[in-house]
Amino acid sequence: MTKQITTRPQLDIERAKNRFAMSDVVRRHVKLRKTGHEYVGLCPFHDENTPSFRVNDAKGLFHCFGCGASGDVIDFIRHVEGRSFVEAVCELLDEDGLPEATPQDRGKAERRDRADRAAAILAAQAEWHEARSIIGTPAEHYLRLRGIFGDMPPTVRFGRVPLWRNKKTGADGRRLPALLLGAQDHTGKIVGVQHVFLTEDGQKAPIANPKLSLGQVRGCAVRLAPPARRIILIEGPEDGLTMRQRVQRAPVWITLGTGMMPFVELPPEVEHVTLAGDNNAPGRAAVAKAMEEYQRQGRTVDAIFPPPAFEDWNDELRGIEMTPPSPA
Ligand SMILES: [Zn+2]
Repeated sequence: MTKQITTRPQLDIERAKNRFAMSDVVRRHVKLRKTGHEYVGLCPFHDENTPSFRVNDAKGLFHCFGCGASGDVIDFIRHVEGRSFVEAVCELLDEDGLPEATPQDRGKAERRDRADRAAAILAAQAEWHEARSIIGTPAEHYLRLRGIFGDMPPTVRFGRVPLWRNKKTGADGRRLPALLLGAQDHTGKIVGVQHVFLTEDGQKAPIANPKLSLGQVRGCAVRLAPPARRIILIEGPEDGLTMRQRVQRAPVWITLGTGMMPFVELPPEVEHVTLAGDNNAPGRAAVAKAMEEYQRQGRTVDAIFPPPAFEDWNDELRGIEMTPPSPA
Protein backbone atom coordinates (compact mmCIF):
# COMPACT_ATOMS: atom_id res chain seq x y z
CA MET A 1 0.00 0.00 0.00
CA THR A 2 1.37 3.40 -0.98
CA LYS A 3 0.89 6.26 1.34
CA GLN A 4 -0.17 9.63 -0.07
CA ILE A 5 2.32 11.96 1.50
CA THR A 6 1.28 15.02 -0.51
CA THR A 7 -2.26 15.15 0.87
CA ARG A 8 -3.04 18.44 2.55
CA PRO A 9 -6.21 19.46 4.32
CA GLN A 10 -8.63 20.57 1.61
CA LEU A 11 -9.08 24.34 1.58
CA ASP A 12 -12.72 25.27 1.30
CA ILE A 13 -12.28 27.99 -1.32
CA GLU A 14 -15.99 28.42 -2.01
CA ARG A 15 -16.66 28.94 1.69
CA ALA A 16 -13.82 31.46 1.90
CA LYS A 17 -15.31 33.40 -1.01
CA ASN A 18 -18.86 33.39 0.27
CA ARG A 19 -18.49 33.76 4.03
CA PHE A 20 -18.70 37.55 4.09
CA ALA A 21 -20.24 40.38 2.14
CA MET A 22 -17.34 41.52 -0.02
CA SER A 23 -17.91 45.15 0.98
CA ASP A 24 -17.29 44.22 4.64
CA VAL A 25 -13.89 42.77 3.77
CA VAL A 26 -12.94 45.63 1.45
CA ARG A 27 -14.00 48.25 3.99
CA ARG A 28 -11.07 47.26 6.20
CA HIS A 29 -8.83 48.87 3.58
CA VAL A 30 -11.02 51.23 1.58
CA LYS A 31 -13.61 53.75 2.69
CA LEU A 32 -16.77 52.80 0.76
CA ARG A 33 -19.95 54.68 -0.05
CA LYS A 34 -23.13 52.95 -1.19
CA THR A 35 -24.36 53.88 -4.66
CA GLY A 36 -27.36 51.99 -6.03
CA HIS A 37 -26.68 48.29 -5.54
CA GLU A 38 -22.90 48.74 -5.37
CA TYR A 39 -20.26 50.39 -3.23
CA VAL A 40 -17.74 52.89 -4.51
CA GLY A 41 -14.45 54.19 -3.09
CA LEU A 42 -10.96 55.37 -3.94
CA CYS A 43 -9.03 52.59 -5.64
CA PRO A 44 -6.28 51.06 -3.49
CA PHE A 45 -4.40 49.95 -6.63
CA HIS A 46 -3.83 53.32 -8.27
CA ASP A 47 -3.70 56.99 -7.27
CA GLU A 48 -6.97 58.80 -7.77
CA ASN A 49 -9.02 61.68 -6.41
CA THR A 50 -12.43 60.66 -7.68
CA PRO A 51 -13.63 57.17 -6.78
CA SER A 52 -13.72 54.65 -9.61
CA PHE A 53 -13.34 51.51 -7.52
CA ARG A 54 -16.57 49.51 -7.22
CA VAL A 55 -17.60 46.56 -5.10
CA ASN A 56 -20.62 44.41 -5.89
CA ASP A 57 -21.75 42.14 -3.04
CA ALA A 58 -24.21 40.21 -5.21
CA LYS A 59 -21.44 39.16 -7.57
CA GLY A 60 -18.68 39.10 -4.96
CA LEU A 61 -16.48 41.14 -7.29
CA PHE A 62 -14.57 44.40 -7.31
CA HIS A 63 -13.69 46.43 -10.38
CA CYS A 64 -11.78 49.65 -10.91
CA PHE A 65 -12.84 51.69 -13.94
CA GLY A 66 -9.65 53.71 -13.64
CA CYS A 67 -6.86 51.12 -13.70
CA GLY A 68 -8.81 48.02 -14.67
CA ALA A 69 -8.02 46.08 -11.50
CA SER A 70 -10.70 43.50 -10.85
CA GLY A 71 -11.36 40.21 -9.11
CA ASP A 72 -13.02 38.46 -6.22
CA VAL A 73 -12.45 38.75 -2.48
CA ILE A 74 -9.43 36.43 -2.59
CA ASP A 75 -7.80 38.50 -5.33
CA PHE A 76 -8.50 41.62 -3.31
CA ILE A 77 -6.73 40.30 -0.19
CA ARG A 78 -3.83 38.93 -2.23
CA HIS A 79 -3.17 42.24 -3.92
CA VAL A 80 -3.95 44.69 -1.18
CA GLU A 81 -2.19 42.74 1.60
CA GLY A 82 0.49 41.13 -0.58
CA ARG A 83 -0.48 37.57 0.32
CA SER A 84 -0.40 34.28 -1.54
CA PHE A 85 -3.62 32.61 -2.69
CA VAL A 86 -3.50 30.05 0.14
CA GLU A 87 -2.76 32.73 2.74
CA ALA A 88 -5.72 34.79 1.53
CA VAL A 89 -8.06 31.77 1.67
CA CYS A 90 -6.86 30.90 5.19
CA GLU A 91 -7.31 34.48 6.34
CA LEU A 92 -10.94 34.42 5.20
CA LEU A 93 -11.61 31.02 6.78
CA ASP A 94 -10.02 32.09 10.09
CA GLU A 95 -11.59 35.56 10.20
CA ASP A 96 -13.89 35.97 13.18
CA GLY A 97 -14.41 39.72 13.37
CA LEU A 98 -16.96 40.16 10.58
CA PRO A 99 -20.67 39.26 10.37
CA GLU A 100 -21.17 36.21 8.13
CA ALA A 101 -23.34 36.61 5.04
CA THR A 102 -26.19 34.10 4.77
CA PRO A 103 -27.28 32.50 1.48
CA GLN A 104 -30.54 34.50 1.86
CA ASP A 105 -28.55 37.74 1.99
CA ARG A 106 -26.82 36.81 -1.23
CA GLY A 107 -30.04 35.69 -2.93
CA LYS A 108 -31.72 38.96 -2.04
CA ALA A 109 -28.75 41.00 -3.24
CA GLU A 110 -28.72 39.06 -6.52
CA ARG A 111 -32.43 39.56 -7.18
CA ARG A 112 -32.21 43.28 -6.42
CA ASP A 113 -29.16 43.50 -8.66
CA ARG A 114 -30.97 41.86 -11.58
CA ALA A 115 -34.08 44.03 -11.20
CA ASP A 116 -31.96 47.20 -11.02
CA ARG A 117 -30.03 46.22 -14.12
CA ALA A 118 -33.17 45.46 -16.12
CA ALA A 119 -34.72 48.81 -15.14
CA ALA A 120 -31.52 50.68 -16.06
CA ILE A 121 -31.45 49.03 -19.50
CA LEU A 122 -35.05 50.09 -20.16
CA ALA A 123 -34.25 53.65 -19.08
CA ALA A 124 -31.21 53.69 -21.38
CA GLN A 125 -33.28 52.41 -24.32
CA ALA A 126 -35.97 55.04 -23.71
CA GLU A 127 -33.32 57.75 -23.63
CA TRP A 128 -31.70 56.45 -26.81
CA HIS A 129 -35.06 56.44 -28.56
CA GLU A 130 -35.46 60.18 -27.88
CA ALA A 131 -31.92 61.11 -28.90
CA ARG A 132 -31.22 62.76 -32.26
CA SER A 133 -28.50 63.56 -34.78
CA ILE A 134 -25.64 65.69 -33.45
CA ILE A 135 -25.78 68.08 -36.42
CA GLY A 136 -26.12 71.68 -35.23
CA THR A 137 -25.95 70.69 -31.54
CA PRO A 138 -23.42 71.27 -28.73
CA ALA A 139 -22.24 67.69 -29.34
CA GLU A 140 -21.17 68.54 -32.89
CA HIS A 141 -19.33 71.58 -31.55
CA TYR A 142 -17.66 69.50 -28.84
CA LEU A 143 -16.33 67.03 -31.39
CA ARG A 144 -15.18 69.81 -33.76
CA LEU A 145 -13.15 71.31 -30.93
CA ARG A 146 -11.41 67.93 -30.77
CA GLY A 147 -10.70 67.87 -34.48
CA ILE A 148 -13.47 65.41 -35.27
CA PHE A 149 -15.64 66.27 -38.29
CA GLY A 150 -17.87 64.71 -40.86
CA ASP A 151 -20.73 62.25 -40.79
CA MET A 152 -21.38 60.29 -37.63
CA PRO A 153 -22.32 56.64 -37.32
CA PRO A 154 -25.83 55.93 -35.95
CA THR A 155 -24.40 55.05 -32.52
CA VAL A 156 -23.39 58.68 -31.91
CA ARG A 157 -26.26 61.00 -31.00
CA PHE A 158 -27.25 64.09 -29.07
CA GLY A 159 -29.76 64.48 -26.26
CA ARG A 160 -30.76 66.63 -23.32
CA VAL A 161 -30.62 64.23 -20.44
CA PRO A 162 -31.00 64.42 -16.67
CA LEU A 163 -27.85 64.59 -14.54
CA TRP A 164 -29.24 61.99 -12.16
CA ARG A 165 -32.24 59.69 -11.75
CA ASN A 166 -33.75 58.24 -8.63
CA LYS A 167 -34.71 54.64 -9.32
CA LYS A 168 -37.17 54.48 -6.43
CA THR A 169 -39.09 57.72 -6.85
CA GLY A 170 -38.64 58.14 -10.62
CA ALA A 171 -37.49 61.74 -9.96
CA ASP A 172 -34.67 63.10 -12.05
CA GLY A 173 -32.26 66.03 -12.09
CA ARG A 174 -31.53 69.04 -14.25
CA ARG A 175 -31.19 68.27 -17.94
CA LEU A 176 -27.94 69.09 -19.70
CA PRO A 177 -26.96 68.77 -23.34
CA ALA A 178 -24.94 65.59 -23.86
CA LEU A 179 -23.06 63.65 -26.48
CA LEU A 180 -24.65 60.20 -26.33
CA LEU A 181 -23.03 56.93 -27.36
CA GLY A 182 -25.10 53.80 -27.75
CA ALA A 183 -23.54 50.71 -26.17
CA GLN A 184 -24.53 47.49 -27.95
CA ASP A 185 -24.49 43.98 -26.57
CA HIS A 186 -23.10 41.04 -28.58
CA THR A 187 -26.32 40.83 -30.62
CA GLY A 188 -26.08 44.51 -31.59
CA LYS A 189 -28.96 45.64 -29.38
CA ILE A 190 -28.58 48.99 -27.59
CA VAL A 191 -28.56 48.23 -23.86
CA GLY A 192 -26.65 51.20 -22.48
CA VAL A 193 -25.89 54.84 -23.15
CA GLN A 194 -22.71 56.72 -22.31
CA HIS A 195 -23.24 60.43 -21.61
CA VAL A 196 -20.68 63.15 -22.08
CA PHE A 197 -22.37 66.13 -20.41
CA LEU A 198 -21.76 69.43 -22.20
CA THR A 199 -22.33 73.14 -21.93
CA GLU A 200 -24.43 74.90 -24.61
CA ASP A 201 -21.22 76.02 -26.32
CA GLY A 202 -19.78 72.53 -26.59
CA GLN A 203 -17.38 72.40 -23.64
CA LYS A 204 -17.33 69.54 -21.20
CA ALA A 205 -19.84 70.44 -18.45
CA PRO A 206 -18.13 71.79 -15.32
CA ILE A 207 -19.39 69.01 -13.05
CA ALA A 208 -17.50 66.42 -11.00
CA ASN A 209 -18.12 63.58 -13.41
CA PRO A 210 -19.03 64.75 -16.94
CA LYS A 211 -18.98 61.17 -18.26
CA LEU A 212 -21.66 58.86 -16.92
CA SER A 213 -23.31 55.76 -18.26
CA LEU A 214 -26.86 54.48 -17.99
CA GLY A 215 -27.88 50.84 -18.45
CA GLN A 216 -25.39 48.14 -19.34
CA VAL A 217 -21.92 49.01 -20.55
CA ARG A 218 -19.78 46.09 -19.46
CA GLY A 219 -19.44 43.48 -22.18
CA CYS A 220 -20.76 46.01 -24.72
CA ALA A 221 -19.18 48.27 -27.30
CA VAL A 222 -20.18 51.40 -29.17
CA ARG A 223 -19.92 50.14 -32.72
CA LEU A 224 -18.83 52.84 -35.13
CA ALA A 225 -19.15 50.24 -37.91
CA PRO A 226 -20.98 46.92 -38.30
CA PRO A 227 -19.31 43.65 -37.23
CA ALA A 228 -16.48 42.59 -39.53
CA ARG A 229 -13.74 39.94 -39.61
CA ARG A 230 -11.28 42.51 -38.27
CA ILE A 231 -12.16 45.21 -35.77
CA ILE A 232 -10.28 47.84 -33.77
CA LEU A 233 -11.09 48.16 -30.06
CA ILE A 234 -10.34 51.50 -28.43
CA GLU A 235 -11.13 52.94 -24.99
CA GLY A 236 -12.87 56.27 -25.37
CA PRO A 237 -15.35 58.00 -27.68
CA GLU A 238 -13.01 60.83 -28.71
CA ASP A 239 -10.20 58.37 -29.49
CA GLY A 240 -12.55 56.03 -31.32
CA LEU A 241 -13.93 58.79 -33.54
CA THR A 242 -10.36 60.02 -34.15
CA MET A 243 -9.32 56.56 -35.31
CA ARG A 244 -12.37 56.23 -37.55
CA GLN A 245 -11.58 59.56 -39.17
CA ARG A 246 -7.93 58.72 -39.63
CA VAL A 247 -8.32 55.27 -41.14
CA GLN A 248 -11.06 55.41 -43.76
CA ARG A 249 -13.91 53.05 -42.92
CA ALA A 250 -11.91 51.48 -40.10
CA PRO A 251 -14.24 49.16 -38.16
CA VAL A 252 -13.73 50.88 -34.80
CA TRP A 253 -15.56 49.80 -31.66
CA ILE A 254 -15.38 51.77 -28.41
CA THR A 255 -15.14 49.88 -25.11
CA LEU A 256 -16.17 52.84 -22.90
CA GLY A 257 -13.37 52.66 -20.38
CA THR A 258 -9.83 51.39 -20.06
CA GLY A 259 -10.77 48.58 -17.72
CA MET A 260 -13.52 47.40 -20.08
CA MET A 261 -11.16 46.60 -22.93
CA PRO A 262 -10.82 42.87 -22.13
CA PHE A 263 -14.54 42.28 -21.59
CA VAL A 264 -16.31 43.03 -24.87
CA GLU A 265 -18.47 40.09 -25.91
CA LEU A 266 -17.60 39.88 -29.58
CA PRO A 267 -19.91 38.30 -32.15
CA PRO A 268 -18.56 35.15 -33.82
CA GLU A 269 -17.68 36.82 -37.14
CA VAL A 270 -14.89 38.83 -35.49
CA GLU A 271 -11.66 36.88 -36.10
CA HIS A 272 -9.01 39.51 -35.51
CA VAL A 273 -8.87 42.28 -32.93
CA THR A 274 -6.54 45.27 -33.03
CA LEU A 275 -6.25 46.86 -29.60
CA ALA A 276 -5.61 50.59 -29.90
CA GLY A 277 -4.33 51.53 -26.45
CA ASP A 278 -3.49 54.66 -24.51
CA ASN A 279 0.15 55.52 -23.83
CA ASN A 280 -0.02 55.20 -20.06
CA ALA A 281 0.26 52.46 -17.46
CA PRO A 282 -3.47 51.66 -17.17
CA GLY A 283 -3.78 51.71 -20.97
CA ARG A 284 -0.92 49.27 -21.45
CA ALA A 285 -2.18 47.00 -18.67
CA ALA A 286 -5.65 46.91 -20.23
CA VAL A 287 -4.18 46.03 -23.64
CA ALA A 288 -2.07 43.21 -22.15
CA LYS A 289 -5.08 41.74 -20.36
CA ALA A 290 -7.33 42.11 -23.41
CA MET A 291 -4.74 40.48 -25.64
CA GLU A 292 -4.63 37.44 -23.39
CA GLU A 293 -8.41 37.23 -23.22
CA TYR A 294 -9.18 37.52 -26.96
CA GLN A 295 -6.38 35.07 -27.80
CA ARG A 296 -7.83 32.64 -25.29
CA GLN A 297 -11.08 32.92 -27.27
CA GLY A 298 -9.21 31.76 -30.36
CA ARG A 299 -8.91 35.15 -32.04
CA THR A 300 -5.78 36.75 -33.43
CA VAL A 301 -4.81 40.00 -31.76
CA ASP A 302 -2.36 42.84 -32.22
CA ALA A 303 -1.84 46.15 -30.45
CA ILE A 304 -1.06 49.69 -31.53
CA PHE A 305 -0.24 52.80 -29.51
CA PRO A 306 0.07 56.48 -30.43
CA PRO A 307 3.63 57.83 -30.84
CA PRO A 308 5.40 58.24 -27.47
CA ALA A 309 4.86 62.01 -27.30
CA PHE A 310 1.08 61.61 -27.10
CA GLU A 311 -0.99 60.04 -24.37
CA ASP A 312 -3.93 59.11 -26.55
CA TRP A 313 -5.12 59.13 -30.14
CA ASN A 314 -7.09 62.33 -29.92
CA ASP A 315 -4.14 64.16 -28.30
CA GLU A 316 -2.08 62.97 -31.23
CA LEU A 317 -4.67 64.26 -33.69
CA ARG A 318 -4.75 67.65 -32.01
CA GLY A 319 -0.96 67.64 -31.81
CA ILE A 320 -0.81 67.24 -35.58
CA GLU A 321 -3.10 70.22 -35.99
CA MET A 322 -0.92 72.43 -33.83
CA THR A 323 2.45 71.77 -35.47
CA PRO A 324 3.29 71.62 -39.17
CA PRO A 325 3.60 68.03 -40.39
CA SER A 326 7.22 66.92 -40.55
CA PRO A 327 8.39 65.48 -43.88
CA ALA A 328 8.06 61.72 -43.75
ZN1 LIG B 1 -7.72 51.45 -9.81
